[in-house]
Amino acid sequence: MTQAAPKSHAGEQDVDLTASALDHRIEANGKLNGHANGPNGVNGHANGHPATLPALDASKLTVHTADPTAREVPDEATACSGNETICTDHMVTCKWTVAAGWEAPELKPYGPLTLMPTASVLHYATECFEGLKFFRGFDGKLRLFRPDLNARRMLMSTLRIALPGFDPKELEKLIIALVAKDGRKWLPRDRPGSFLYIRPAVIGTQPQLGVQAPKEALLFITASFMPRMDSPAGGMKLHTSPEDMVRAWVGGFGYAKVGANYGPSLLATAEARARGYGQILWLYGPEGYCTEAGASNFFVVWRAKDSGKLQLVTAPLDDKLILDGVTRRSIVELAKIRLPSELEVVERRYTIDEILEADGEGRIVEAFAAGTAFFICPVSAIHHRGKDITIPMSKTGESGLYTAKIKGWMKDIMYGNEQHEWGVVVDEE
Ligand SMILES: *Cc1c(COP(=O)(O)O)cnc(C)c1O
Repeated sequence: MTQAAPKSHAGEQDVDLTASALDHRIEANGKLNGHANGPNGVNGHANGHPATLPALDASKLTVHTADPTAREVPDEATACSGNETICTDHMVTCKWTVAAGWEAPELKPYGPLTLMPTASVLHYATECFEGLKFFRGFDGKLRLFRPDLNARRMLMSTLRIALPGFDPKELEKLIIALVAKDGRKWLPRDRPGSFLYIRPAVIGTQPQLGVQAPKEALLFITASFMPRMDSPAGGMKLHTSPEDMVRAWVGGFGYAKVGANYGPSLLATAEARARGYGQILWLYGPEGYCTEAGASNFFVVWRAKDSGKLQLVTAPLDDKLILDGVTRRSIVELAKIRLPSELEVVERRYTIDEILEADGEGRIVEAFAAGTAFFICPVSAIHHRGKDITIPMSKTGESGLYTAKIKGWMKDIMYGNEQHEWGVVVDEE
């Protein structure tokens, strides 16, 4: 006799296994963390068997303060000139085990982690991460930009690789705790208009070889310097991906910020760099769909072939091929609200041949890459199979007009020139 499968999702899971498993986990995690199960809360186990165990809880944060005189804050240029990322005085860590749930998170001096050589992450890429910045505003305040979206995305990435769930609100509080602790010293008030980079990550730490969902994990958050990459002289030049390499595929995990997406892309990126290009424009399928530029989303402004309308075009999210960038989403939302009659926002599949055709007909207006690291970075050229497409950069020759306009709005929100709900003010210690 065949075993009776749970009724509701059985058939759907057979054809749509990963998507429905992930959706169910996110749903279950939300219910568990959202419910009033006492102060300890409840925590979804990575394997989908919920157990009443301590949830991630920022209110339990323990604090060990570093000696504030031990390290001086370097200037931005010095900090970004070496081969090691310079982090602030503190980091946040939090351990999880399948048996005991999330331990109390710790805010403590920045330093190395210890891992056994058999740790899951070192062999099976059980790792995911986030990237967001905090900003020293022109009004003197510290701000994060839409950190709730990063926290939610990190939950999705974490569950995708069978690591333990948590309430994204608690992750957001831990990020805020680190920024509040180190912001005053490391992003001083006399450096308005500057930022530091926050890197939350979760790794599988169980020291046992064997391909399985880790029974131990570590969440950690660091804050560091990061070079400005949003305005390379003459714009960013892209080289399309080679025919024999795919960054992400339908049914894959390109939509999750998991480490496994990035290591394998470095070979093509290094080759493109050697040829004088900044990033790869990742194409997909025999049709050559344009997906992302390096680890950033990609936008083109063109005049539509049929209607002649000015359009802001970017790849869609529904096929789960690209990362749902916070920057991408914000640009789409701002353009819809603030340029409704000027610029039609289009999220659809489009091919490199459409770009070539538009270029041939003089319909390309501008293009840019968008993500936290590159912010909004004007693109000046695309190289594809021996052909070079030159993208106009009409405004001062360094950026397209719409690129500059949207970037200006985003900057104003990040640095407090415009009071906006996306700019979350952090009270510093
Ligand atoms: C992080 C990332 C982005 C940008 O996302 P933001 O939330 O805007 O920083 C885009 N594509 C990939 C592949 C990424 O890893």
